[in-house]
Amino acid sequence: MNRVRCLVLNAALGPLDYKVPDGMAVELGQVVECPLGPRTVIGIVWEAERLPGTDVPAEKLRALRGLYPIPALPAPLRRLIEWTADYYVASLASVARMALSSGGALKGPASITEYRLTGGMPERMTPQRLAAMEALEGEQATIRELAGIAGVSEGVLRGLVNQGVLEPVEVDCDRPYDEARPDYAQVELSEQQREASDIFSTAVRNAKFAPFLLDGVTGSGKTETYFEPVAEALRMGRQVLVLLPEIALTENFLHRFEERFGTKPVLWHSSLKSTERRRAWRAVASGSAQVVVGARSALFLPFAKLGLIVVDEAHETSFKQEDGVRYNARDVAVMRAHFEGFPIILASATPALESLQMAESGIYEKVDLPSRFGGAQLPTIDTIDLTQEKPPHGMWLAQRLVDGIAERLERGEQSLLFLNRRGYAPLTLCRNCGFRYQCPNCSAWLVEHRFTRRLACHHCGHEAPSPAQCKECGEPDCLVACGPGVERIADEVAERLPDARVFVATSDTLNSPGRAAEFIAAVDAGEIDVIVGTQLVTKGFHFPELTLVGVVDADLGLEGGDLRAGERTYQQVAQVAGRAGRGAKPGEVLIQTRHPEASVIAALAAGDRDAFYSAETEMRRDAGAPPFGRWASIIVSSEDEAEAREAARRIGDTRPDVADCMILGPAPAPMAQLRGRYRYRLLMNARRSVQLQDVIRRWLGRIDHPPGVRVAIDVDPYSFV
Ligand code: ADP
Ligand code: ZN
Repeated sequence: MNRVRCLVLNAALGPLDYKVPDGMAVELGQVVECPLGPRTVIGIVWEAERLPGTDVPAEKLRALRGLYPIPALPAPLRRLIEWTADYYVASLASVARMALSSGGALKGPASITEYRLTGGMPERMTPQRLAAMEALEGEQATIRELAGIAGVSEGVLRGLVNQGVLEPVEVDCDRPYDEARPDYAQVELSEQQREASDIFSTAVRNAKFAPFLLDGVTGSGKTETYFEPVAEALRMGRQVLVLLPEIALTENFLHRFEERFGTKPVLWHSSLKSTERRRAWRAVASGSAQVVVGARSALFLPFAKLGLIVVDEAHETSFKQEDGVRYNARDVAVMRAHFEGFPIILASATPALESLQMAESGIYEKVDLPSRFGGAQLPTIDTIDLTQEKPPHGMWLAQRLVDGIAERLERGEQSLLFLNRRGYAPLTLCRNCGFRYQCPNCSAWLVEHRFTRRLACHHCGHEAPSPAQCKECGEPDCLVACGPGVERIADEVAERLPDARVFVATSDTLNSPGRAAEFIAAVDAGEIDVIVGTQLVTKGFHFPELTLVGVVDADLGLEGGDLRAGERTYQQVAQVAGRAGRGAKPGEVLIQTRHPEASVIAALAAGDRDAFYSAETEMRRDAGAPPFGRWASIIVSSEDEAEAREAARRIGDTRPDVADCMILGPAPAPMAQLRGRYRYRLLMNARRSVQLQDVIRRWLGRIDHPPGVRVAIDVDPYSFV
C-alpha cells in the first residue's frame, strides 16, 4: 500500500487519506499518527471501500508520521465498530475511541515511576500532610493519582518525596499477569450443571458463533457451570471475556474465580488507574491476558484471540450505556461473538423478554438449570396487602413482616429488607409553608441523607447541608421527611426490634471493593441480623443463613409507567427473593403491596414466571414494543430553555413521513431539566421492517443547531426520563 484511508479519532472529521512513506509497512487496522494541520491525530487504517471519502490526488497527500507500537485492530473488531456506529447512530470515531481506551497503551513498552509511603515521618508535620499520609496507606501510584486519592495538591506530595516520606518505585508497565490454570481445582458438578457445561464446552471447541441463553433459577450454580467452558477456552489458548453488570459486585466473583483457577482474572472498569488500564489493555491486545472480567466498556477491547464471552446477569439494565454512544453491551456482545466466530453465554435467572424471544424463535439455544444446587429449595413467596394489613402510623413495615424478622432473630438467622431508594426520605418539605426542597439543576426532589446530614440530588450529585431552618420562610425545625428510604426503614427496624443489628447496604455504604468485602465478611460471621438494601443487594450475594426477604414496596417500580416497568419490577423482586434460603434452611419472601392483584405481583406470588412472561409478551406485542417493534428516543437539550425548545421544534417540524413509523413529540422530557440542561424529547415507534436508523440519519443529518444544543439519539432506549 502506498496510500491509505484512515478513520481519525475526531468525530467532526470524515475519513482522511495519507501517503505511506518509503520504508513504512502498514496493514489494515494499524493505528497510525496522522498529520492534521500543525497537529498529529490518532488514525486507524481502514478499508477504503468501506469508508467513502473524497479522493484526493496523490500529489496532495501528506505522509503518515508513524505507527503506534501496538497490534493492528483485527478485521472482526473493525466490523464490530462499524456495526455499533451504524446501529446506534453514532460516529465511527466515537465507537473506535472505545476500543483505543488507554492512551498510555499506545505509547508502547515502558516503565513508570510510582510512589509509596516509606514509613518515615516528615521533619515538620502539618494537618494536611498527616491527612495525606493516612489516605495513602497501602497505596502505590503516580504522584498525580496519589494527589487525587489524598485530595491534596501534587506539590504537597512532592514535598513528602523530598523528605523521604514517599519513595519512588520503578514499575514495568507490561509486567505479565499470573497464569490462570484451567485444571487448578476440580469441581464436582451436579448432573444438570454437567449437561449444561458440556454443551458450552463443545461449542467452545467448535469455535463457531453460537449464542446461548443460560436460564437458571437463583442459586442453581450458573457460575460454576460457565467456569467449565471458560476452562476449556483456556486449554485451547483462547481468551475469555466475562461481563458483569456492577463492578461493586465483583468481589465475590473474583474470590470464586481464584479458587477455581488459582489466580484472579484481569479486571477492566472505568475507575482503573491509568497504569492498570495500560497494562490490561496491552495484555489483552497481545493475547497474554487470559480472562478479563469487566464492566460493559471491556466489550470493545482489542482481544487477540477471544474464544468465549459470558454476560452474567444478562438482563441487567446497567449493560445499557446512557451517555456518549448509547449501546447495549449485551446486544453488542452477541454481535462481537458473531463477527469473530465463537460462542456467547447470556446467563440469568430472569432473562430479558428480548432474550427469551430470541430463544423461542430458535436464534439462541436455551439451556436450563431448573433447580437449585445442593438440593436447596426455592423460597415460599407470600404477599402482604398493605390496604388490609396497615403498618402503624408513620411506619412502613406491616406487623407480619416485623414478626417474621423477630422470629429470625430468635433463631439466629438473617433477614433482608429491599427498598430501591437510597437515603432517609425521597422528599423533604416545610411543615410551616409547604416549601419542597428541589435540585437547582434537575427536575427532581432532593433526598435527605441522615447519616451525612445532607440533602442530595441522585441525578447530578448536587449536595447541601440539611438546613436547620426552612430556607423559604425561615421557620426553625420545621422540615418533614415524606416517604421512606432505606435509612428510614433501618431506623424503624431499630425502633421496633431494638436488639437487631441493622446494616444499610447501598452504593453510599458499599462504595469500594474493600467496603463490599467487609460487608460480606460481617454477614458471613453472623454480625448482621437485618440488611436493608437497594438493588445492589439483589444479585450475586450468597448468604446461607439469610432466610427471610421482605420487599418493602413492590409497587414503587410500577409507578414510573415506562415500557419496561413491569419487567424490571418482576426481575428485581425475583432476584431479591432469590437471596432467601440458599443454604440448608428454607427461605420465605414477603412482598408488601397495595396492588396484590396486579399481574406482576400475582405472578411473583404464584411463582409463575411463565404467566408473567406471556402476559408481558402480549402487552408488548399490542404496543408494538420491542422485540416486536422498535423504539428510539431523541433528546434535545441546552442550558438555555428557549434554545432547547426551538431546536426541538425545528426537528419536530421537519419530521419525515414514513409508513409504519410514528413520531411523537417534541414535548418536555419527564426529566425536563437534568444537570442544568433543559430537555425536550421526541419518541419514535416503528415496525421492525422500518430501517429506523436510516430514517434518523437522513432526518437529523440535514439540520444544523447552535453550538449549545445537544441532540442525543437513543436506539432501543431503556431510560424514558
Ligand atoms: P446462581 O448464580 O445460579 O444464583 P451460584 O453460582 O451463586 O448460583 O451458586 C450457588 C451456590 O452453590 C454458590 O455458593 C456456589 O458456590 C455453590 N455451588 C454451585 N455449584 C457448585 C458445585 N458444583 N460444587 C460446589 N458448590 C457449588
Ligand atoms: Zn440534580
